[in-house]
Amino acid sequence: MILIVDDNQSNLYSLQKLLESKDFQVDTADSGEVALGKALKNDYALIILDVQMPDMDGFEVAETLADYSKTKEVPIIFLSAVNTDKKFITRGYASGAKDYVTKPVDPEILLLKVKTFYNLQEQNVAMKKTQQNLELEVKGRRESQVTMKSQIDHFHLMLESLPQIAFTLNDQGIVDFVNGKWYQYSDSEQNFPETHPDDPVILEEFERCRKRGKALELEIRIKNVGSEDYRYHLLRVTPVYDEGRIKNWVGTFTDIDGQKKAEKEKDEFLSIASHELKTPLTSIKAYVQLLDRKLKLDKDSSEAGFVTKVQGQIEKLNTLITDLLDVSKIENGKLKINKKPVNLENVISNAIETILQTHDENKVKIGRHGVKPDILIPLDEIRIEQVLINFLTNAIKYSPHNNQVIVTTFVDEEAQEVRVSVTDFGIGIPDFKQAAVFRKFYRVEESSLQFQGMGIGLFICSEIIKQHHGNVGVSSILGEGSTFYFTLPLN
Ligand code: ADP
Repeated sequence: MILIVDDNQSNLYSLQKLLESKDFQVDTADSGEVALGKALKNDYALIILDVQMPDMDGFEVAETLADYSKTKEVPIIFLSAVNTDKKFITRGYASGAKDYVTKPVDPEILLLKVKTFYNLQEQNVAMKKTQQNLELEVKGRRESQVTMKSQIDHFHLMLESLPQIAFTLNDQGIVDFVNGKWYQYSDSEQNFPETHPDDPVILEEFERCRKRGKALELEIRIKNVGSEDYRYHLLRVTPVYDEGRIKNWVGTFTDIDGQKKAEKEKDEFLSIASHELKTPLTSIKAYVQLLDRKLKLDKDSSEAGFVTKVQGQIEKLNTLITDLLDVSKIENGKLKINKKPVNLENVISNAIETILQTHDENKVKIGRHGVKPDILIPLDEIRIEQVLINFLTNAIKYSPHNNQVIVTTFVDEEAQEVRVSVTDFGIGIPDFKQAAVFRKFYRVEESSLQFQGMGIGLFICSEIIKQHHGNVGVSSILGEGSTFYFTLPLN
């Protein structure tokens, strides 16, 4: 908008009309005081100022405008009929005018000057705005840089206070921060700790995970720089995401050497104890059988009932000890699998038969669904039957209010595998605990008091299936039931 200041109303009017005819927005003031008031309140791109006015003349107005930061940049064109001599013109420029037009005004000249100043001022304003925005952005960036730096410092401080070895890597997998504990196992920030010759190389394992964008978790022995001893550590490296892409990685080494040693001692103890228990138990079993035959007890007598009970308990004890022995065999890599082509359907019916014989028929109903796999598959018959008996026993054990169990088979020609599943309608397993049930000695806490067990049956099953190059798994809904399954490759 342009402000025209003139005490002469007809001049004001004619100039206003002239500028408005060229689409300029125009405001007017008929005195210096009014002009100052308006200039401080509104934003003008240009002021056309009559020099000769009563009370406050044009020079005074221009000088006052130059004192205010809001108005000091606004260009001024002086209009004057009289002050045309050099002295006045000089004063006009000194008081802040950008140009000088003498009366009578040549409309074409005035319009040309107005257009030029108007455009210049508009560009000026636009440039200032851009500059202001830029300054704001620079300020914002500087502030966020400062915040980010303090966040990183805070994060590093946190890593420093951890009892573990902690480090970070950039998106290229290069170590860019290590805490003090790192140096107990490495002599430089760039080098990962040296691993035991029998353990995997950290860098190779990490690169594999980095390429797939997956976290790394590894139990590994690393060498202490001072003592040169290898200690077991749990290495975890996790990706940190920023807007969907990996920004960097955070890693820790947790010392689990004590835990590993205790585990090893426990395994050794279990192995010795189960071996030592097995021998007398086998004798007890044989003598009870002998006693049973010698005594020739009446089948309905209470004594015969006691002998049967003793034999039942011996059988339970035998299963427990055999399971413990299996665990130690697995630990020592000695669980042998003798594969030969076997009809899987026979194995399944044998397992079902065994379960029905050892359970009250009124309490258990086993349904058989799916296409029966009448094919020969290379497998260890005894071990696969053991897996099935384990699944079926669990299905019955963990379904105290339902006696229905279903065994389903499915041959997947495309994947070249057969899938056997055992479904029950029992207590079910919470979602986040399902994967853990195949771990050694794991029992679901909520049901562990109500049902007896050692938490090793499923661990043995998963090892047996692993050695057959198959998979085990479970899907379950709490309170509705579970389906445990395993797959076996057809060849
Ligand atoms: P155990 O039954 O001796 O505890 P397992 O290794 O056979 O040991 O099973 C591990 C755990 O998995 C069990 O303690 C139980 O909590 C859970 N589980 C196994 N089978 C079932 C099932 N069919 N329904 C519900 N929970 C089950």
